[in-house]
Amino acid sequence: MTTRIILIGPPGAGKGTQAARLSEALGVPAISTGDIFRANVKGETELGRTAKRYMDAGEYVPDEVTNSMVADRLSQDDAKDGFLLDGYPRTRAQVADLDAMLEERGASLDHVVELTADVDEVVGRLLARASLQGRSDDTEDVIRHRLDVYAEQTQPLTDVYDQRGLLRQVDGLGDVETVTERIRQAIGA
Ligand code: ADP
Repeated sequence: MTTRIILIGPPGAGKGTQAARLSEALGVPAISTGDIFRANVKGETELGRTAKRYMDAGEYVPDEVTNSMVADRLSQDDAKDGFLLDGYPRTRAQVADLDAMLEERGASLDHVVELTADVDEVVGRLLARASLQGRSDDTEDVIRHRLDVYAEQTQPLTDVYDQRGLLRQVDGLGDVETVTERIRQAIGA
């Protein structure tokens, strides 16, 4: 069985936490574009240097950079039979590119899970994370900007997937376990 899932939701909605848990439960790799960018920043690669400028400002990394990185990652062996994409696609151009990547492989998406959470909740969570992890894009100004960019560029993508009959909306408020259970119900797993 293949399972191809996209997790979409505002910064701080808990996508990364849920992706790790679901990846384990479903036996497919969780692929987080944010994590890949951060690993490249840490490793001081060319890609990392490019990405950092955008990330620190709360902007999206340019589509062509992100798309080719995802294409590379999806061509690895472990993604052959499924994946859970966390943080991608975030723009219309990324939706189109992902469509093309899947079509090339004769593959299709099974579910797009939208994790919802209100602004005050996510700002609180991100500020708490900032004091724990010290991520350079977790300052209050940058957080607010990331939320605006999300509302403007990414939230509208849920309509695209809804029209395809793939959208499953899940309430991201509650404890981690409860949210995982809601997602599993929503995708019938
Ligand atoms: P969050 O969901 O909390 O914003 P992520 O770890 O998913 O955090 O992403 C951190 C940053 O990495 C984003 O603000 C953006 O700069 C960059 N990024 C991640 N995914 C994408 C993407 N699909 N397209 C463009 N930029 C991205």
